[in-house]
Amino acid sequence: MNYNFHTHTFRCNHATGTEREYIDAAINIGIKDLGFSEHIPFIFPGGKENSYRVPMVEVNDYINTINNLKVEYKDKINIHLGFEMEYYPEHFEQMVENARSWGAEFLILGQHSVGSEPDFFFWSTEETENVEYLKGYVERVVSAIKSGVITYVAHPDMFNFVGDIDIYNEEMRKILKAAEECRVPLEINFLGIRDNRNYPTEKFWKLAQDFDISVVFGLDAHDVDGAQDTQSMPRALEICNKYNLKVLDKLQLIKP
Ligand SMILES: [Zn+2]
Ligand SMILES: [Zn+2]
Repeated sequence: MNYNFHTHTFRCNHATGTEREYIDAAINIGIKDLGFSEHIPFIFPGGKENSYRVPMVEVNDYINTINNLKVEYKDKINIHLGFEMEYYPEHFEQMVENARSWGAEFLILGQHSVGSEPDFFFWSTEETENVEYLKGYVERVVSAIKSGVITYVAHPDMFNFVGDIDIYNEEMRKILKAAEECRVPLEINFLGIRDNRNYPTEKFWKLAQDFDISVVFGLDAHDVDGAQDTQSMPRALEICNKYNLKVLDKLQLIKP
């Protein structure tokens, strides 16, 4: 594995470890390009911030730390500043604009909720048979893919739909079709593997074999061990081999 663009830090309140520790861990396993993709800070109408994001008051510290480490480590590893974000129709543009103003080199989409924060939040990983939620999830992911500013989609298969499989297939194919048309890679998420989550799920990747899409591997590190997770690799490769998926060995970053 020579790249990883899915990395969090202590700054998002549900991860541990400093940027420097993650960088050293990445170097340990031979990573050449390391992207930090913290949950993007955002102040929602009414002044509300959600606690799983980096607090707005800390964003400058995040940016400065990474930019300094980028220079310090330049002979050992390439460090990239980015954010992970959701697609909420009413806030997307502002979120992207903020990321731009902070000098983000890339954005990844992680559609953690189908609702729009902060008023309505439904975790995508919660088991549900609700078709409207499934459709809402897919619609948002597809819109993000078509926006042209997303470098890749993290855990596209995180939505935990346990209803009719035909409806699931029909909806998920919309994500795959958009990814194919817009040349946006889809991630096999290593956190899901090492944590035994509902993703990556073969019911999604099985569909992917019918599309000309690219796969990226993302560690989704929330601690230092996660930043050097090579144990999840065999499972990730197993999925790719089984469904004939091509994994990118270099990722083209899209500057938002
Ligand atoms: Zn996270
Ligand atoms: Zn993440």
